[in-house]
Amino acid sequence: MTDRKRHRPETIAASHGVATDAAFGAVVPPLYLSTTYQFEGYDKPGPYDYGRGNNPTRDQFASALAQLEEGAGAVITSSGLGALDLLVGRLTPSDLVIAPHDAYAGTLRLLQARANRGHFRLCLVDQSDDADVHQALDDTPALLLIESPSNPLMRVVDIESRAGWAHQAGAEVAVDNTFLSPALQQPIPLGADYVFHSTTKYLNGHSDVIGGAVVASDRQRFESLKQWANIVGATGSPFDSWLALRGLRTLYARLAVQQKSAMAIAVYLSDHPAVKAVHYPGLPTHASHAIANRQQSGFGAMLSFELHGGLAAVRNFLRSVEIFTLAESLGGVESLIAHPATMTHVDMTDEARTLAGISDSLLRISVGLEATSDLIADLYSGLDAC
Ligand code: PLP
Repeated sequence: MTDRKRHRPETIAASHGVATDAAFGAVVPPLYLSTTYQFEGYDKPGPYDYGRGNNPTRDQFASALAQLEEGAGAVITSSGLGALDLLVGRLTPSDLVIAPHDAYAGTLRLLQARANRGHFRLCLVDQSDDADVHQALDDTPALLLIESPSNPLMRVVDIESRAGWAHQAGAEVAVDNTFLSPALQQPIPLGADYVFHSTTKYLNGHSDVIGGAVVASDRQRFESLKQWANIVGATGSPFDSWLALRGLRTLYARLAVQQKSAMAIAVYLSDHPAVKAVHYPGLPTHASHAIANRQQSGFGAMLSFELHGGLAAVRNFLRSVEIFTLAESLGGVESLIAHPATMTHVDMTDEARTLAGISDSLLRISVGLEATSDLIADLYSGLDAC
C-alpha cells in the first residue's frame, strides 16, 4: 500500500511492479507461468506454493487494482461472472441477496440460476426506487448488489446512501464498477464492502482477455475471499493477469479520451431528429446527472440511445455504420455497438425486459479511441439511413 500514499492513481497504474525484477532487472514485470513452487525444505514453503491459490503475476495485478480501488486486497478471477460467483458462492440458503432488476443480463442469469437451486434467496428491486429498496432491506438481507451505472440504461444510484441503508439493515454491499473502473468511480470510499469487475472491459481495455476481480474493503474480507477462491478454484490465469496489468497501464489515459468523445457523441445524438432518447449521465438532462456528477470523477464512455422507427430503423442503422462494430462487450480501444434486446439481454423474458425499460429500439455503444469526428460521421450515416 506504500504506492497509494506516495503516488497518484495514474502513476500507480503506469508503474506498479515496474523494475522490481530481482533476477535480471527486467523493467516489465516477468510473467510467471509455473503452477508449482519449490519448498525451501521440509515443512518450509516459500512465499508461493501452488498456483491456484497464489501466483506472483496475478498478485501483482491484484495489488495494483486493490490500491486503485482503495481496498485491502483483490482476488483475480477467470471472468466477471466468476467474480460475482465468488462473492455469492459463499452464501447459504437462508441468506437474502438484493439485486437490481435491470442489471447486466448475465448477472441476473447467474443470480437466478443459483437462487432457483436454493443456494440463497433473491429479491430483484428497482434500485432507483427508494421505497422498493427500503422494503427489500426490511427483510434482513445478507448482501445488497449495486450496478452503477447500470447496463445498458446508464441509471446511476447514490452508492453512499444505499451503503448506509444496507449497513443499518445488517447487509454487506457489493458494487459492480465495470462501466467506470476506479479511474472514474471508487465505491469503497463511498461505503461499499466489495467492488467487483469484469476486467474484460476497461481494466484490460483491449478486448483480448476474459477476466474478473473482487476487491475487498478490509483485510478480513479479503482473506476470506482469497480462501474461498482457492477452495472453489476460481482464480484467473497468470497470462490473463499479465495482459490485464499491461492494459491497466493506460487506463487513465484511455478513459480520458474515450469519455470526451462519448460526451460529444451524446450531445450530437440528442440533437438528431431520428433519436428518441439518449441515456448518458453526462447530459444535464439525464435523470441521474446530479448524482453522477457528485460520486463519479467522469461520466464514462458508455451510452445508449433509442431510435424513432423501431426495429426497422435499428436494422437500417446497423447496416450503415462502419466504424462501430456490431458486437457484445465494451471498454476496448475499438468502438462497439450492441442491440441489447437481441444480444446482451436476449436471455431476459420480454416481460422482464419491458419492466427494465429495455426497448427494441435501444442501442448501446462503447466509445473507443478512434477520432471523434470519424465516430460522429459514422453515426450520422447510420441515422441518415433510419
Ligand atoms: N458486469 C457487467 C456490468 C458487464 O457488462 C459484464 C459483461 O458484459 C459482466 C459483469 C460479466 O463479465 P464477464 O463477461 O467478464 O464475465
